[in-house]
Amino acid sequence: MCVPLPVRNRILGAITLASSESGRRFGPEDLAFAQDLAARASVAIENARLYREAREAVRARDEFLSIASHELKTPLTTLQLQIQGLARRLKSSPEDPVFQGLASRVATSERQVERLTALINNLLDISRITAGRLDLDLEPLDLSAVAREAAARFRDDLARAGCTLEIRADGACHGEWDRLRLEQVVMNLLSNAAKYGAGRPIEIEVDGSETTARFSIRDHGIGIPAEHQARIFERFERAVSDRHYGGLGLGLWIVRQIVDAFGGTIAVESKAGEGSTFTVLLPRAAQKRRMNGA
Ligand code: ADP
Repeated sequence: MCVPLPVRNRILGAITLASSESGRRFGPEDLAFAQDLAARASVAIENARLYREAREAVRARDEFLSIASHELKTPLTTLQLQIQGLARRLKSSPEDPVFQGLASRVATSERQVERLTALINNLLDISRITAGRLDLDLEPLDLSAVAREAAARFRDDLARAGCTLEIRADGACHGEWDRLRLEQVVMNLLSNAAKYGAGRPIEIEVDGSETTARFSIRDHGIGIPAEHQARIFERFERAVSDRHYGGLGLGLWIVRQIVDAFGGTIAVESKAGEGSTFTVLLPRAAQKRRMNGA
């Protein structure tokens, strides 16, 4: 008895069943059974093939991201240094009329290069995290101070977005974290609050218990519908249209990976049209874990 292994419009192969010596002859019931078996086997074979193809596509994407972000970063760093040099030169001769006309253009170029750098750094982080190559450098830090410093660095962007920022922190909030990664968590959440809550106030709160530090950031912007709240922490997931808001959908994924690596949690509370609150809980003594978002 020979039954085909059908997959959509193709035949993958065939299963052959034979009986010998016993003299048994196959009947219609045996044929139906063999066809059923063949149908199930072909689904299993096809699924395995599709799974391999999907994994290969993801691997190719990650490899491309890693190479592309490294290649983009090199000329960008040079460009950034050149523009910074130009800006310093302009600032040193504010009375020169030629320089005066150039100052605002150079400032705009500087901002755009910074944006581009932030985007490329996100791409680089993705490849580092997926490859498990992002180690934490833990040191004693004050979360309230880190939040204040990040906010100060973000002051111009907040002003441009028309957002006021209030930071409520009753004194220092000590713990052991990686400074750059902690700053990245605050900056990413702050930049989302300004982007999706432009023109409205933002509030940051820092407090905590004996063992856990709590950082929460609240905006009064567009909010996130309940059905999208879980997936926005995944890679490339967005809950807004590209036409209205630019972005790659990587910031929150990176934030969650960093928070995970600190042994903490991140959660969002939000209502569409009413704003969002992101709350990060971090153990004060973070276990040193490697990030691996693969
Ligand atoms: P990006 O902002 O580049 O799209 P993120 O990973 O930072 O990427 O955010 C993922 C998605 O989550 C955003 O596209 C947006 O839909 C939603 N989101 C994040 N932060 C906020 C916020 N503060 N208010 C409303 N929506 C937000």
